[in-house]
Amino acid sequence: MTSNDFGSARGTPRHDLESSSAATVSAGPGPGPAPADLLRRLRARGAADPVTHVERVPARAGVPAPWPSWAPAELRAAFTGRGVAAPWQHQAEAANLAYEGQHVIVATGTASGKSLAYQLPALATVLADPRATVLYLAPTKALAADQLRAVAALELEGVRPACYDGDTPRTEREWIRRHSRFVLTNPDMLHHGILPGHAQWSGFLRRLAYVVIDECHTYRGVFGSHVAHVLRRLRRQCARFGATPVFVLASATSGDPATAAGRLTGLPVTAVTEDASPRGGVTFALWEPPLLPPDTSASSPVPPQATGEHDELHQVRRSALRETADLLADTVAEGVRTLAFVRSRKGAEVVAANARRALDDAVPGLGDRVAAYRGGYLREERRELERALLHGDLLGLASTNALELGVDLVGLDAVLICGYPGTRASLWQQAGRAGRSGQEALAVLVARDDPLDTYLVHHPEAIFGAPVEATVLDPANPYVLAPQLACAAVEAPLTPADLVLFGEGAKEAVDELVAAGALRQRPTGWYWRHRERPEVDLRGEGGAPVAVVESSTGRLLGTVDGGSSHFLLHSGAVYLHQGVSYVVDQLDLADGCALVRAEEPDWSTHARDVTDLSVVSVRSYVDAGPVGMFLGEVDVTSQVVSYQRRRIATGEVIDTRPLDLPTRELRTVAVWFTLSPQSLALAGVQPADVPGALHAAEHAAIGLLPLMATCDRWDIGGISTALHPDTEAPTVFVYDGHPGGAGFAERAYGTAAAWLRATRDAIAECGCDTGCPSCVQSPKCGNGNNPLSKPDAIRVLDVVLTNLPD
Ligand SMILES: [Zn+2]
Ligand SMILES: [Zn+2]
Repeated sequence: MTSNDFGSARGTPRHDLESSSAATVSAGPGPGPAPADLLRRLRARGAADPVTHVERVPARAGVPAPWPSWAPAELRAAFTGRGVAAPWQHQAEAANLAYEGQHVIVATGTASGKSLAYQLPALATVLADPRATVLYLAPTKALAADQLRAVAALELEGVRPACYDGDTPRTEREWIRRHSRFVLTNPDMLHHGILPGHAQWSGFLRRLAYVVIDECHTYRGVFGSHVAHVLRRLRRQCARFGATPVFVLASATSGDPATAAGRLTGLPVTAVTEDASPRGGVTFALWEPPLLPPDTSASSPVPPQATGEHDELHQVRRSALRETADLLADTVAEGVRTLAFVRSRKGAEVVAANARRALDDAVPGLGDRVAAYRGGYLREERRELERALLHGDLLGLASTNALELGVDLVGLDAVLICGYPGTRASLWQQAGRAGRSGQEALAVLVARDDPLDTYLVHHPEAIFGAPVEATVLDPANPYVLAPQLACAAVEAPLTPADLVLFGEGAKEAVDELVAAGALRQRPTGWYWRHRERPEVDLRGEGGAPVAVVESSTGRLLGTVDGGSSHFLLHSGAVYLHQGVSYVVDQLDLADGCALVRAEEPDWSTHARDVTDLSVVSVRSYVDAGPVGMFLGEVDVTSQVVSYQRRRIATGEVIDTRPLDLPTRELRTVAVWFTLSPQSLALAGVQPADVPGALHAAEHAAIGLLPLMATCDRWDIGGISTALHPDTEAPTVFVYDGHPGGAGFAERAYGTAAAWLRATRDAIAECGCDTGCPSCVQSPKCGNGNNPLSKPDAIRVLDVVLTNLPD
């Protein structure tokens, strides 16, 4: 059997195999223009060619495998009935390992059919053993609901799959606990509901044969570290009931998945990484928006941020949002089914709105074929957008990467990626949405005006020649470990054996909990002393999501995570929802809601914060003569203090208004370097220019760190000062934006020379004269990008690099 034969069974074999989502949407309209022709037309629009590199990603033929002999005929028939003629090689390999009892992770590309790899062994076992049960975990309720539809559609006797999450009616919960043998839930529900209620779940847990962890690459950073301990708590309860389930994990392509899965589960895990599913070739272009001419009013009716505070000081590139909106409008006008990934929810709304406007200007009504999609939408709204795409009413969609976890959209003709998504793993996952089987597709990375994106579009080897990153999580983070041990102690007293289960740092954390009066040691173990359970939020430091409510109607528009609420929903903020503009009247942090009213002012709002930092302890350092490089704990205090209003049409700053929001404290991990004042003077940095030099170096260093660590710019913060009281020297700090750290600063410290070398090159290679967002300006600067000195930043980094050992 060839892959073509296989493909002709249903026409869209890759989609059928990706049964993790019943809402899989395959491209409806006929094929658009060939990607190479399309790209030629897109890049010919302006005076200068914006494309810096074109990479051809070749097509791949699929490698099918026979059904495992242990798979019962009933199960094979059910899959065949759903269009799966046979598994691909990687699906069969992972399924066989899991069926033999090995913990396994299948880490392959988008739409490679990972769900069959766990459905096969799990469902075969449930059918063969009338008592066996399966627990399936997805990072979102939406994904669990999609997976439920996929399993239910197989119509297998006696499986009774059911979702058990916050939306499950009380009346159904007992039935599910007693009768369902395939329960789909999420880590939050496992943590808040199932584990604390383990007595009620004893029947289910006693018979647990498989734990499926879908999209497990999303469990990274602090959230991932929490989930790692929730899984240890699950293993502990299973062991108490005599069950030792097999763990099957599914992940996007990632570096060293076996190690990451081992850290997540605490078990030895075998990795299957060879993707044997077929896919079409992709033409991948790197796109750098042009620098705007000095007199912007002549060239573009709507230059972004081109006037106001920046115009006299700095040159500016056309914004990636506008460039992406134009590309989206152009591809939709060509009848090309296009998905644009935009990093922020606000950005996705802006791209959709601008593309709609451009299309309506060309052909009234055509704008209706473009929409925005993001995680904060309510379920009904998401489903409506999915339906519209399914029926071809929509051709263009602008989305945050929430889509990665919501509906499974594959087989698009073009994917636009507005700004580097932070990791090569995410980049490939997003680009993987393009390409129907046997057809060529186009992917375009549109560089944002920031140091990392600029560096990448000029160093394609850093994208196409480098392996994808490993998923970083740190279960030993004491800010995660202690609360998780407290939760575990409530579920059952902790024993010395449990300390082994919870791993490095567990004994110290227990000792601290005892000292704090939370645990009491008795001969039979450590006991929780309080009546109430500890309140632990897996999604961590951000706090509970804030509801966005329209005051006049009481309608819930959506939610914003707590960490972003100070920035996005402060009173006076302009908040976009589905292209409709709202103004926030009041942010009520106590009630977790923001009251808004529909209004379309001609300005946008930009929040500002101030930050203070003190060193708590030094963990490690390198003494390099006039330069010192440090890793340690710090306390960061920050507060959103004001916001700017800027005219949408011109970017002009109208005014800056104060805000009265509480400060937020953060004990975290930082990397920092110091330089002696003498070395700076020798390098030609005048004393008056030291603050601007350090500040510029800090911005660029933050911008380039994602090249080294699996974080994005918004996961980390920085502060620089010509004389810091704790270091008594000119200092640049870069810190993890998560309590207890998430491993990012540690990576930066470990790769300091390479990191700062890339930083220096990015600044030096930038074509601007005095600094721009592509090199030393930062979109999240609390000081309005002032002072900044680009040439002195290069001098500072040269001093560091000549002294620091590689
Ligand atoms: Zn620049
Ligand atoms: Zn700054």
